[in-house]
Amino acid sequence: MNDKIDPMVRVLNEIDDVLRCPRCDLSFTRTNVVVGSGPIHADIMLIGEAPGRNEDKQGMPFVGAAGRVLNSALKGAGISRDVVYITNIVKCRPPENRVPLKNEIDACSVYLMKQLETVAPKLVILLGKTSAESFLNRGINMTEEHGKPFKYDDRTVMITYHPAATIYNKKLKEVLEADIRAAIDLNK
Ligand code: URA
Ligand code: SF4
Repeated sequence: MNDKIDPMVRVLNEIDDVLRCPRCDLSFTRTNVVVGSGPIHADIMLIGEAPGRNEDKQGMPFVGAAGRVLNSALKGAGISRDVVYITNIVKCRPPENRVPLKNEIDACSVYLMKQLETVAPKLVILLGKTSAESFLNRGINMTEEHGKPFKYDDRTVMITYHPAATIYNKKLKEVLEADIRAAIDLNK
């Protein structure tokens, strides 16, 4: 049933058969390719690092504990998760949740670039250091650079902490929530 295909999967299939993607070695260990979730023409796009265990099982981004933090931060900013596009730098889970390797990030970037072009968001929120460093292709000092929106390639980009890093750190969770709220308010 062709019309049942997720619209973003249809777009990414122009590059490769994304749900069966063989472009890097994460294809050997993943259960599901996690393409992303949300409307494909959203104003806001959030980019995490890589799928974790729950995401790999369900084929959906941010559905575990980190997802609960993210959902509540979005709710605190007055928006529902259903109106934003959410994806990751790499679409397959790295074994034991290790940080994705450069060659995996590079192999997967064709999909992320196509997603950016398709969604054409006004605001991109980069969740965590790995996401920010690979997206911006430079080293990031999280303490100094989080929560400060800037222009990059004609859109607004903001770096904040990774939701998973805030699960046992109440202070950091408040920072994440404040960053997301401020960036979204700025773009309302
Ligand atoms: N962490 C991420 O970076 N992405 C997810 O989808 C889940 C956890
Ligand atoms: Fe393909 Fe990206 Fe998965 Fe690697 S991580 S197999 S490039 S979808």
